[in-house]
Amino acid sequence: MLWYKKLHNWIILGLVLGLGYGILAAGMGWGAFTQDWISPFGDIFLRSLFLIAVPLIIASITTGIASLSDTRKLARIGGKTIGIYVSTTVAALIIGLILVNTLRPGDSVPDSVRTELESQWGEMAEQRQESAEAAQDRGPLQAFVDMVPDNFFGSAGSNRNMLQMVFVSILLGISLLLIPTEKAKPLLGFLDSLNAVIIKVVQLIMYSAPVGVFALLADTVTLISEDNLSELWGLLGALGFYMLVVLAGLILHMTITYGSIVGFLTPVSLIRFIKGIAPAQLVAFSTSSSGATLPVTMEMSEKNLGVSEEVSAFVLPLGATINMDGTALYQAVAAVFIAQTVGIALGFSAQLEIILLAVLASIGTAAVPSAGIIMLIIILQSVGVPAAGIALILGVDRILDMCRTTCNVTGDATVATLVASTEGQLDTPRA
Ligand code: ASP
Repeated sequence: MLWYKKLHNWIILGLVLGLGYGILAAGMGWGAFTQDWISPFGDIFLRSLFLIAVPLIIASITTGIASLSDTRKLARIGGKTIGIYVSTTVAALIIGLILVNTLRPGDSVPDSVRTELESQWGEMAEQRQESAEAAQDRGPLQAFVDMVPDNFFGSAGSNRNMLQMVFVSILLGISLLLIPTEKAKPLLGFLDSLNAVIIKVVQLIMYSAPVGVFALLADTVTLISEDNLSELWGLLGALGFYMLVVLAGLILHMTITYGSIVGFLTPVSLIRFIKGIAPAQLVAFSTSSSGATLPVTMEMSEKNLGVSEEVSAFVLPLGATINMDGTALYQAVAAVFIAQTVGIALGFSAQLEIILLAVLASIGTAAVPSAGIIMLIIILQSVGVPAAGIALILGVDRILDMCRTTCNVTGDATVATLVASTEGQLDTPRA
């Protein structure tokens, strides 16, 4: 097919042009112009995706569960999904920890660079620490309490509360399964129709994706470099090795873990998988939010990978909120990197604790930009590394956020494909 007929080629073009423009704008000092005239298009794209995320979660999970024949099927698919999500997250953490412990990027950061980074990013690090402290000053079961909203509208009003919306939707779906069909019909009909409308809205929004992606990339590059390209290169030089370790981990996890799951455990060919999920990966890369990308992930998984609506409607919204392999891997590498930089040796038990905490953190991390770093602070504090150390990595966090979000979304689609395949709900011939 002609290249220009494929939407993802246009999105790639937007991404490359956005990157090129961002570098040019940073070099020319066009930051203010970019903020005034280019960034708003990125914001519009991001906002329209967020706009549909909450209704999509409610409509898709509720109808997804209500369409299952009984609660036993729900328990089976739910148990399987959560089990695979946790296993892939542990695999990601092991890859990250092996890399950071063997390559030791923290050892090569000179003291002068460390001091400079700490003074430059210290203030921002303190702000993040305060948010993390607020989250940590709570009892051990508070995370479960937080999953249950005490007011539907209050909870639906924030994109940070997606996990609460997942909880409400599961409850609603199960109740619909348990009441007489006649009574369930009107609400199900409404949610079904809402679902169809949302899918159409996603398709419409995606037409603007190339422009949105261009603007988001241009905005990110100019913001990071603060109108000063040499600053950006300097930062990349100082933290390049650390970034490479995170990137290598993400790439290895995507190729080894996801590649083997798709290649060996499902009938979908790797080429078809990569091509099929590419638009969602590109949107994840440019928005840094798996929540905002969720509508696209669902559309691509159903349309291109052949995942049934029943599976995608349940597995993907759940994955966007609780499955963040990329985030967990990044947190493990970052925690050990900071410890290495400040000269703290983390033993085996501390690293095991990182695995446990990062699995929990990946469940609790909101599917929005930069959420992962707040949870990282909690991990650092628990293993005895000074949390102020995040000042070292804040400068490049946005770039890594884009990459880890791409991995998070790919992981969700991989698991959806696997679950659909094991349930006999995958409609894709081997290509
Ligand atoms: N931005 C990531 C996501 O939405 C979360 C994080 O790691 O900050 O998947």
